[in-house]
Amino acid sequence: MSLKINKLHAQLEDGTAILNGVDLEVPAGEVHAIMGPNGSGKSTLSKVVAGHEGYEVTGGTVELDGVDLLEMEVDERSRAGVFLAFQYPAEVPGVSNANFIRAARQARLPDGEELDAVAFYKELYEKMDLLEMDRKFTGRAVNEGFSGGEKKRNEILQMLMLEPKFCILDETDSGLDIDALKIVAKGVNAMRSPDRGILLITHYQRLLDYIEPDHVHVMAEGRIARSGGPELARELEEKGYDFLKQLATA
Ligand code: ADP
Ligand code: MG
Repeated sequence: MSLKINKLHAQLEDGTAILNGVDLEVPAGEVHAIMGPNGSGKSTLSKVVAGHEGYEVTGGTVELDGVDLLEMEVDERSRAGVFLAFQYPAEVPGVSNANFIRAARQARLPDGEELDAVAFYKELYEKMDLLEMDRKFTGRAVNEGFSGGEKKRNEILQMLMLEPKFCILDETDSGLDIDALKIVAKGVNAMRSPDRGILLITHYQRLLDYIEPDHVHVMAEGRIARSGGPELARELEEKGYDFLKQLATA
């Protein structure tokens, strides 16, 4: 599915503007990366698209294959196919990882249809194997006491199991060592498909060595300041974000 964001403005509950007219289109089949300095609004953008309640949209549109996402509740957006892997995944004490994913899968079935538990676990184990995750993570409470890297890997497991139509990954690479980074990249690359769009938010070029994006966007002060190909990420890595300021004054 494709995601189309048009002149999106959003603010905090206290009225502070964070997004100042974001324009972005990610067609199905493509991987786009958003880079940008800390505080430029990358996480806010991902949360506004997913339907986080802490932000108020004050203008613009967000459409998934032409359907207005902003009119939908967060669970409707999820069932419509939007998945967000959080920069800071929440812990859910008392709910086992397997049951959490199972409930999310069940919620996607038509009323009255029961999830096939045997097939579910078979698939869960296959995907955990792909991500080199120990089986003990099925029984542990969601993210509770997980290391930073384990949480990120767990987000990817959820993504693989839910097979969303549009994936947003918010700095899934941060806090990962190089081996974990490669495994996460393998999971994301396994999700690449002609009918699925992927938006990767990252602070560093490193992830993009393993997941080659079709387009790279740079966010600054709540809008997309520049767009280009994969070379833009390498240029930023070389020159740093000060390079943006030179662009702004050029
Ligand atoms: P990025 O992900 O690019 O680092 P964020 O979207 O997390 O940036 O944040 C953009 C700006 O908005 C930052 O200055 C941040 O402090 C502020 N901000 C975002 N969410 C909140 C919030 N819930 N409360 C207060 N400030 C927020
Ligand atoms: Mg962020």
